[in-house]
Amino acid sequence: MIQVTRTFLPPLHEYEEQVKRCWDSGYLSNRGPMVLELEEKLLNRLGIPWVLLTVNGTIPIQIALKLIDHTGEIITTPFSYVATTASIVWEKFKPVFADIEPDTLTIDPKKVESLISPNTRAILATHVFGNPCDLVQLEALANRYGILVIYDAAHAFGVKFRGESIFNYGDISTCSFHATKLFHTGEGGAIFCKESLRHKVYYSHNFGHDGPLQFHGLGINGKMSELQAAMGLSLLPHIDDIISKRAAIVQMYEERLLWSRLSTMKIREGAEWNYSYFPLLLPNESTLLKVQQALNAENIFPRRYFYPSLNTLPYVEYAPMPISEEIASRILCLPLYVGLSESEIDRIASIINNNL
Ligand SMILES: *Cc1c(COP(=O)(O)O)cnc(C)c1O
Repeated sequence: MIQVTRTFLPPLHEYEEQVKRCWDSGYLSNRGPMVLELEEKLLNRLGIPWVLLTVNGTIPIQIALKLIDHTGEIITTPFSYVATTASIVWEKFKPVFADIEPDTLTIDPKKVESLISPNTRAILATHVFGNPCDLVQLEALANRYGILVIYDAAHAFGVKFRGESIFNYGDISTCSFHATKLFHTGEGGAIFCKESLRHKVYYSHNFGHDGPLQFHGLGINGKMSELQAAMGLSLLPHIDDIISKRAAIVQMYEERLLWSRLSTMKIREGAEWNYSYFPLLLPNESTLLKVQQALNAENIFPRRYFYPSLNTLPYVEYAPMPISEEIASRILCLPLYVGLSESEIDRIASIINNNL
């Protein structure tokens, strides 16, 4: 069976070596030595000034939203994973959707600007499939109107824009280290932010503690455990290899698929992408269903991702998002993982081409 993804697992003995350190240190949580070491290694690897590891990739979005004092509207993308919108609603803000650019699949800054009102508190945008949003325009808007920019960078591990880590952009960025993501710790995540917000983000993720007996403000439990960090430390030495193998798979798909009838997202100029997903745009939904059925019949399971468009969720106020809804109806993420063989890619591509 070929699934859309397969979690990369480091050799077991490498994980065992790391996890054994819990028995030596006696630490399982509360920012133990392995969490601190993984943070340090990520700073060096990514070229970023600050990071805080978290228990998953959703709580950092919630923490980012909690930094906003007054409730109100968050302008956001309808084309993302449900976690983006759900966090907004969970934190009692109103999501206001701005449609996406049809080529990059990221939020359209022109539509964002037309939606800014006195009730707007922040822009929450997703670097879709690791493809950077229009950072320059979004940040210019945020500065002009005095609102925060938060990036859901769950897919964007290792992505650079204009030579710099994507995590260095915006007021706050968040990442997911879920098992299905490029770099993972089983469950896990991280938050990155500019200097003025770091103290608040830090205590927010640890119950508001400011020392063992003092509380600085409201907080929640967002801490990563040592067991999660052990996975991260054993996986990190493999990340360059993982990315280059995925790049080779993407290239094989590109060489084999019938592009006169298909398309994929356009990577933003200035971006160094991470090959985190391979989104394929079919001509229409009925072709997508036909292709999906043909693949499923051969035990191949791509995923309709992202589907549905988030403006159609039952708990949000619906506003039509023609581009996002149309793209959601005909986009399929193809299998992409270390270990997917050339002959499997041949097979997947020929089934797709034969069903267009
Ligand atoms: C995976 C994902 C998240 C949530 O991350 P978790 O680690 O699963 O909590 C948020 N946003 C996007 C776009 C994602 O793909």
